Amino acid sequence: MTEPSTNLSTNLSSNQDYIALEDRVAAHNYSPLPVVVEQAEGIWVTDVEGNRYLDALSGYSALNFGHRHPALVQAAKDQLDRSTLTSRAFHNDQLGPFCVALGELVGKDMILPMNTGAEAVETALKIARKWGYQVKGVADGQAHIIVMDGNFHGRTTTIISFSDDPEAHDEYGPYTPGFTSVPYGDLAAIEAAITEHTVAVLVEPIQGEQGVKIPPEGFLPGLRQLCTDRQVLMIADEIQAGLGRVGTTLACQYEGVEADLYTLGKALGGGIVPVSAVAADAEVMNVITPGTHGSTFGGNPLAAAVGKAVCDLLATGEHQRHAADLEGQFREALQALVGNGVEEARVRGLWAGIDIDPELMTGKDACKQLAKKGVLAKDTHGSTLRLAPPLTITAEELKMVTDALAEVVTEAQQG
Ligand SMILES: *Cc1c(COP(=O)(O)O)cnc(C)c1O
Repeated sequence: MTEPSTNLSTNLSSNQDYIALEDRVAAHNYSPLPVVVEQAEGIWVTDVEGNRYLDALSGYSALNFGHRHPALVQAAKDQLDRSTLTSRAFHNDQLGPFCVALGELVGKDMILPMNTGAEAVETALKIARKWGYQVKGVADGQAHIIVMDGNFHGRTTTIISFSDDPEAHDEYGPYTPGFTSVPYGDLAAIEAAITEHTVAVLVEPIQGEQGVKIPPEGFLPGLRQLCTDRQVLMIADEIQAGLGRVGTTLACQYEGVEADLYTLGKALGGGIVPVSAVAADAEVMNVITPGTHGSTFGGNPLAAAVGKAVCDLLATGEHQRHAADLEGQFREALQALVGNGVEEARVRGLWAGIDIDPELMTGKDACKQLAKKGVLAKDTHGSTLRLAPPLTITAEELKMVTDALAEVVTEAQQG
């Protein structure tokens, strides 16, 4: 116990007050920018001192429709007045309609609702293993899953077991066996790693945490074919890449590819409640039977109502088209910085990874400078920066983001 304090949560006014308080009582598993958000609307957030920022991170794509989108807030409010939690011991009137909407959106028969992204990935891995034993005929206890170097799929013990990021992985063993990691985008390496026991390949269509790493052209279609040929399930983790971010509903669709299982999360909760899901066709999903998997909160009526409202927003295609329309402008503005303090810029839809010259500044420093100019972004590894503004951003507002970044690198070059 730290010594009792009478004013631990009183007399809070400046950003620094809240930061000092948090630092004292909230676990140090993050290292946030020194901005304390009090209020948010659309693409804008306001801190406790009244400073306004353009949110160019969107909660790692959990806020694809911006903060407090009116249709999503309305869906949540309406549902708050009806029912919020039933547990799956009973049916509720929101789950079925949500599953229909999501299934139609992503082209799958069935949905298994969970809450967080990591849970959706865990669920997909369990489904794949069970499918391996029941359908493919893999020997008991032998199921093998191929994953990609540089992956990020969440923070549970099994998932970090196959992470090659020392920060995420180290000192959390013993680790879950049954996974082989191969270089991202290397089809030959995947083919070589497949054995008679392989049940699935788990892949991010674009590696977000890796700095928006886009695989080589032809990789995803090639992986699709390979999985079909070798009777292996293709699991696409669309938790960050999906739901409109790249200009298509799913990032796999940008490459014309259909996976066997999709994991979805982040934007599926509209920035209001955690909602995640696995989507698959019946022949795969039906290996799950009563009692063999579950979640107290998964599929709750509040989450389902918000999730369905998210699906309704995406069903018109308007947000996907908007992201696709702005891709060119975004790429052009960022490519113009390459050679001028930026080493490489990768853009797909409204999503960008920017490698700043490490001699110039770290990604964290760039984010601090951007915040001073009123733009919130997030570094990934080293000097890489990630931009993922809400899909509701206008062309003019997007220009504010890229102009601010241009100023930051120019000022850094001038020392
Ligand atoms: C964020 C993320 C996850 C984990 O989601 P949580 O809701 O944080 O558990 C899994 N996969 C990908 C690709 C992600 O970006």
